[in-house]
Amino acid sequence: MAQIRVENVRKEFGDFTAVQSSSFTVEDGEFFMLLGPSGCGKTTTLRMMAGLELPTSGQIYIGGEEVGMKPASQRDIAFVFQMFALYPHMNVGKNMSYPLLSQGMSKSDAQKRVREVARILGIEDILNKSVSGLSGGDRQRVALGRAIVREPKAFLMDEPLGALDAEFREHMSEELRALHDRMGATTVYVTHDQLEAMQMGDKIVVMNHGVVEQFGTPQDIYDKPATMFVAGFIGSPPMNFLHFEGEVLENSTTVELSGQTIAIPPQRESAQGKLAFGVRPEHVKLSDESEFRGKILSTEYLGTSQILTIQTQNGDLKVRTSSAQLVNVGETVGLTFNEKTITLFDESSGIAIRSDLNIGSI
Ligand code: ATP
Repeated sequence: MAQIRVENVRKEFGDFTAVQSSSFTVEDGEFFMLLGPSGCGKTTTLRMMAGLELPTSGQIYIGGEEVGMKPASQRDIAFVFQMFALYPHMNVGKNMSYPLLSQGMSKSDAQKRVREVARILGIEDILNKSVSGLSGGDRQRVALGRAIVREPKAFLMDEPLGALDAEFREHMSEELRALHDRMGATTVYVTHDQLEAMQMGDKIVVMNHGVVEQFGTPQDIYDKPATMFVAGFIGSPPMNFLHFEGEVLENSTTVELSGQTIAIPPQRESAQGKLAFGVRPEHVKLSDESEFRGKILSTEYLGTSQILTIQTQNGDLKVRTSSAQLVNVGETVGLTFNEKTITLFDESSGIAIRSDLNIGSI
């Protein structure tokens, strides 16, 4: 298995730049997510790692070796597509041994290897079955098995579970993660689903319009978003933004919102003009004591919790509270914020203002 390093990689298609100069490192054995909305450049980035697309500039290293101009067939990686194509006329065992036999491995060695991998995947009992009658999950396992038998340096997966229904998708994503934990194989996984990325990934790269917005652990990305885009893309509901104009100075520990003084983590840099006060829905509390007030516009019942939509002078907020908390639509409530969790943003650039909280997050 191997580390993959992407350094200042850029991809242009004619006049269009699909990936701006991007850098990140996938450590050996990591489960690494490329996350972002449709068209942000995830697949193009993955295809460059695979050797299916050549970068316009920049370098890619696999296991320390620069592979930029090497064709896919010489990179020793397995590319797993959304549509798992199996050879319909071959049984499961033959589908899995085919890549080994075509590399020149002896039939008996290939069979031994296929049985080992089938045991890991729990598909030993279907090795003689035709692939045409298999369930979706088994097809998925066979296709993975075919990639695993080759023992590639890394797995590159492009929305592999995208075509599955929600329930089965969750089951397969758990299975895939457990399989990864058993094998320790470096895996890069493309998804547009932030929940999937947060649940499965050791690290996440968040992309938008061909730009890497942030690179870090799921916790870093959630707690210390580097940009308003990341803050608004991650979380369900995502981070709230209260908009205000003003100035925060280095070492500030408060801001003024609608004439009220609100505590924030100590700031490491100053900013002025149009600013946004970022707070996650679970870090807002209803409190009679607070003079910062808002009107409840609606409630959404989610079982143990509920999401309240609250209108304030600085914009609407989504607030997650216990559903045991009784509230009435139309009533005005006081609001307090968990100060340690606040991130301020410069609205003109969309970039987080560095504080004790988000220092070192990019
Ligand atoms: P999706 O989840 O929809 O696949 P993505 O984040 O994977 O999106 P890419 O497939 O990498 O995005 O595409 C990024 C941009 O590059 C898109 O605007 C796409 O239209 C464009 N693009 C991709 N491949 C080509 C190509 N061969 N020629 C021209 N433009 C391309």
